[in-house]
Amino acid sequence: MTDRQWIEDYIENNSEKFTDVSSSIWEFAELAFHEFKSAELIEKVLEENGFDVESGIAGIPTAFKGSFSYGTGKPVMGILGEYDALSGLSQEASCNVKREKVPRGAGHGCGHCALGAGSLAAAIAVKEYLTEFKKDGTIIYFGCPAEEGAGSKQFMARDGAFDGVDFVYTWHPSTKNMVEAVHSNAIMGANFIFDGVSSHAGSTPYLGRSALDACELMSVGCNYLREHVIPEARIHYAYIDAGGTAPNVVQDHAVVRYEVRAPYVSQVKELFERVKEVARGASIMTGTRYSCELSMAFTEYIPNNALAEVADECLKEIGAPKWSEEDYSLAKSFLDTYNEEVLSMARKDIAETFGEDRVEEKLGRPLDDEIHPFSKDKIRLQAGSTDVGDVGFAVPTLNINIATACLGNVGHTWQMTAQSCSSLSEKGLLTAAKVIALSCIRTAEMPEIMERARAEVLKRNGGAYSCPLPESVKPPLETY
Ligand SMILES: [Zn+2]
Repeated sequence: MTDRQWIEDYIENNSEKFTDVSSSIWEFAELAFHEFKSAELIEKVLEENGFDVESGIAGIPTAFKGSFSYGTGKPVMGILGEYDALSGLSQEASCNVKREKVPRGAGHGCGHCALGAGSLAAAIAVKEYLTEFKKDGTIIYFGCPAEEGAGSKQFMARDGAFDGVDFVYTWHPSTKNMVEAVHSNAIMGANFIFDGVSSHAGSTPYLGRSALDACELMSVGCNYLREHVIPEARIHYAYIDAGGTAPNVVQDHAVVRYEVRAPYVSQVKELFERVKEVARGASIMTGTRYSCELSMAFTEYIPNNALAEVADECLKEIGAPKWSEEDYSLAKSFLDTYNEEVLSMARKDIAETFGEDRVEEKLGRPLDDEIHPFSKDKIRLQAGSTDVGDVGFAVPTLNINIATACLGNVGHTWQMTAQSCSSLSEKGLLTAAKVIALSCIRTAEMPEIMERARAEVLKRNGGAYSCPLPESVKPPLETY
């Protein structure tokens, strides 16, 4: 029996155990840093399967790691799991009409229920393989909360959680099956807090110094700044505290949150300093004081090419999820819920992926039943950001995308919540588990790949992970 056959059989024979975990996490639908039941469930299954679990790592109650070692314990393999939901995306399972399950409740609109469970299945399959075939190695499941919030992996990396790990694989629910060929932006976010002097806005405005004016002038300054930054950069903001609701009071306190993105963390740090200068200018203009509270930052994610070679081969051997006719019609019913704007994006994407001549065919049966090969020359820059970037800046890391939703589907929508508790998500997560488990056991037996993978990281980080957040910035468990 081949290693591939063994892994496939193990995961298929235990499939219900893993899809049940996904359904339970989907039901819990817990928000960033509050994934208590979800983390507890995964920890319980790891313990039942002979893993040593360490809970509450890196100062985050819902972050954990579960490890299992055999023989010499080398090499050390890591798999990342996420399990946080999104606010306002509650939706009935597998239901193709917008129908909230819990009014204004949270929902798994990014499919992290499947992500956490699929990675769990992979970790347990690797453990069983090491034991069955008496292979040396350690497998670690990293429970990573709050990917949708302020992130956790940068705090875990800063805390040394990935020290000594030879390589890490992870995956994300998607619409396509491929090693993710994306370079995601680095990001840095902070609250800018302005303090002035309150006064009667009608009778004695001259005695007041407005913190709200400072926020507004900061916006004006940043809007002028946009013209003079690299085109890939992004500057976003949101008012956290506009200083109250009374126009007849000069607002003496106001808070605005900024997030800046750019392709490399070095560029983000530089841009962030310029945004801080704009805030300083706004405070001078208004006679207010300002302070900046750094709260989040992620390093850019870049696929590890050495690991990508292995995963690409494993993905080809395992193949796409085996969709049934019911799966195709379910997927079609979800695609049909989207408006013309989304559908035209879907058409364009399908044409690029499958060829112009197959657009109608794929729109009628909108599930990815193929594998799209990875090419390191086709890595494209994506505006989004992920804390997986920090794992990849610490140790060799690779993300794989597996279809769990219809082609053309948009993430962070009720449609994604619905599909994340359906046959589509179940088949996707089991496929992901097989690909990750096989990639781990293959990589562990390829010292040359591990060496090259390490060299790629060394070239980027110079020999040690450095966190974009100083030690003084703690995980914002309640505030973000
Ligand atoms: Zn996600």
